[in-house]
Amino acid sequence: MGDTRKHPSERNFVGVQIGLVSFLDEGVEEVLDILEEKSHVNALIPSTVSWSRGNAGRATDWYPDHGKSEPDNLQGGAMIQPDPRYYEATHLKEITAPDPLYQGVDFLELISEPAKKRGMGIYPYYCETSRTEPRSLNIPGWVHVLEVDAHGRRTGRPCVNNPEYITWWRCVIENHFKNYDIDGFLWGVERKGTMMLMMDGQESTCFCRYCRERAREFGFDPEEARRGYLELEKYFDRARTGIKPTDGHLVEFLRILLHNPMIFPYEKMWHESHKDLAKDVYGTVKWLKPDAYVGQMVWQYINTFNPFMRAQFDLAEFKQFADWIKPVMYHVAAGPRFHGIVDGYTRSILGDFEAAEATKLLYRVLQLDEAPYEELENTGFSAEYVFNETARTVRALSPEVAVYPGLGVGVQGIGDVTNTEEDIKAAVRASYEGGAKGITICRNYSEANLSDMAAVGEALDEMNIGESIPAGISKVDPGKEIKRTSSERDVF
Ligand SMILES: [Zn+2]
Repeated sequence: MGDTRKHPSERNFVGVQIGLVSFLDEGVEEVLDILEEKSHVNALIPSTVSWSRGNAGRATDWYPDHGKSEPDNLQGGAMIQPDPRYYEATHLKEITAPDPLYQGVDFLELISEPAKKRGMGIYPYYCETSRTEPRSLNIPGWVHVLEVDAHGRRTGRPCVNNPEYITWWRCVIENHFKNYDIDGFLWGVERKGTMMLMMDGQESTCFCRYCRERAREFGFDPEEARRGYLELEKYFDRARTGIKPTDGHLVEFLRILLHNPMIFPYEKMWHESHKDLAKDVYGTVKWLKPDAYVGQMVWQYINTFNPFMRAQFDLAEFKQFADWIKPVMYHVAAGPRFHGIVDGYTRSILGDFEAAEATKLLYRVLQLDEAPYEELENTGFSAEYVFNETARTVRALSPEVAVYPGLGVGVQGIGDVTNTEEDIKAAVRASYEGGAKGITICRNYSEANLSDMAAVGEALDEMNIGESIPAGISKVDPGKEIKRTSSERDVF
């Protein structure tokens, strides 16, 4: 049997995020059998270049009932064999992951033929997580592309306006699409802008020479913006000590924004620069392979957790640089995660509120209807959340861009909740009822139990979803507002 792949626009899309380590630990055919039989996967989303233990490594918090039960301590880098011909334009040439497990192995060579025979598409995934560890220490020269904070210090992430970094990505993409027969690419960067980083107590970036030049192109003085950010930093530092400003936390925050009017333009400059790199990647892939199917990940901070970021990222704009998107909707993990986010807000701009009040306020603003603050550490968000969020995304992007929600299947690092098989099945159902044209199994096959993987296939079978999605499954009329609520929860 030869190549039986179909273009995703002609079929239901069932993707799985997966790292090289699973194929090495368990065997290529064995893993593909499991994915196909238990979850009806037809799209592999391998982390071929990664520094993310969650996406590319073995499980980190507990071990599921397959694979090796020992830490791999992923260091990360390229898990394909870099072809030096494509790296002439950059100084960042030595990018191979130093992990002993991966030496001499080429991830895409390993899986390409076996996947093709099964009709599975391959969509390499780059996920830059919000963490800055593990660092890219194995790449000589990486220090030169790092961001710079408002105090002039070099920090932990590469700058999206640094020409060397942008060039490096073109090299990596060319290497992928010229040396391998792959079907597309998924771009996913978990980044906050200059103001949002400061709000969350992180180093606020970037004020490097390239970002300052970009600000001047936008028509304003980057130095004035930097001074504003230093004022804002004092505000957040004071707020976190618990000292209440005379006029309250929110009023003081608004005062700093109103008296330092270059704060928002700088945040806007960052946002446009962040999108520009995604557009550069999209256009580069399309030039190399016009029918490649390019996806964008939408981080859960953007679509769900943060009203500033939801406002900043207009979902409809993804039409410019995405054929499909994977909005992250780990609904069970969302409970404890939102609990922590509320705690952060009540130590700064929502410091005038009790945590329970702030939760209600944020739910109303974000159009969420979930468990009260007191229960969130032990309670996930509901499946209705997945339905509503899918429907909102589909309304923004349909029909031009397909939506494949990223569902939590065995996601680790989620606090005191358990993602059950019934939770997984409910999320699969809610996705298709919300108008999705497929789903993405997240975060990584290596952390899901086989029963979790089977829950995906069972839900698809119960809805009679195979190669195609039967008519009538979607409950969403793109022209109409629909919202399901969780009747047993009296939030307000
Ligand atoms: Zn910069």
